[in-house]
Amino acid sequence: MRAAVVRQFRQPLAVEERPIPTPGPGQVLVRLEACGLCHTDIHAINGDWPVKPGLPFVPGHEGVGIVERLGDGVHTRTVGQRVALPWLGHACGECRYCIDGRENLCEQQYNTGYAVDGGYAEYALADARFAAPVPDGVSAMDAAPLTCAGVTTYAAVKAAHVLPGERVAVFGIGGLGHLAVQYARLVGAQVVAVDVTEEKLELAVELGADHAVNAAETDPAVAIQHLGGADVAIVLAVAPSVFEQAFRSLNRGGRMILVSLPAEGTLTIPVFETVLKGISIIGSIVGTRQDLAEVFTLHAAGRTRVIAAPRDIRDVNQSVAEVLAGEVPARLVFVYDSAQPVEQPSREVNESSTFG
Ligand SMILES: [Zn+2]
Ligand SMILES: [Zn+2]
Repeated sequence: MRAAVVRQFRQPLAVEERPIPTPGPGQVLVRLEACGLCHTDIHAINGDWPVKPGLPFVPGHEGVGIVERLGDGVHTRTVGQRVALPWLGHACGECRYCIDGRENLCEQQYNTGYAVDGGYAEYALADARFAAPVPDGVSAMDAAPLTCAGVTTYAAVKAAHVLPGERVAVFGIGGLGHLAVQYARLVGAQVVAVDVTEEKLELAVELGADHAVNAAETDPAVAIQHLGGADVAIVLAVAPSVFEQAFRSLNRGGRMILVSLPAEGTLTIPVFETVLKGISIIGSIVGTRQDLAEVFTLHAAGRTRVIAAPRDIRDVNQSVAEVLAGEVPARLVFVYDSAQPVEQPSREVNESSTFG
């Protein structure tokens, strides 16, 4: 199979042939149809964050494909089923966070395309329990960006407890932002899109944003205050100035939701204003399997639109450069069409297995 492999941080990926892996107990083998290029992949490729992936590795946590083979003990997925392989590739299922519905905070989790090989390949292995079923009516091309960009912004809107009629400012319109605008609209908010690129603002308005603010031309905090202030500011951009602008845009009782992960970043917040105005600062990391299921259900019901452009995995390095140059409308998605299905071997069912 073809795979794009990171052998050294901050170096071009190597596109190489690898053997198709064999699923172990509790795993599925997935033939990828598509995988989105998330900004987090670029951080992984560069080894930007304190906990780095082990080298070599295959990035990609927006992989979507067809289950080709089941490992021992897998009873909850079927061969031929379309599934998504999200960032949350595994959680323990037994800690306080897993039990109380916050599996995205599990300390035993491992992450797809980071701790284990991800979707920049024609095949990938996954923990069957975390290979999320993609409903009929959601294409692989659409499901890929929903698998990270969708679930992440959906969970951010949930974390903000947005009420109908509140004003939500979305800072950064791209892969995540174009979906954040739509989820904020779905819960009845007035939406202000903030970006420095006119085409992205036009896209946000097309997708339902009530107002667009070009932060390259005006101070967005002042512009948002002029509109009545933001009850919620969702930060999806990484420039240090954006965090400060988002804070200043908030009304009393406002919630600032931090989603983007700058390679280095410290937030300086005025304590006096935060206390007096009753402001909440909330970090939100991806979402749970249930969040992702809801994201897919909404999309199957026609409530969201995904804006993405296809790319060939052989052009992976060029695609990364396109994203870094800001030339991409929303999301790039690698599309695989050359992979051949593998034969399903006969398999003994292990009745004593604890998986599934
Ligand atoms: Zn991502
Ligand atoms: Zn856990």
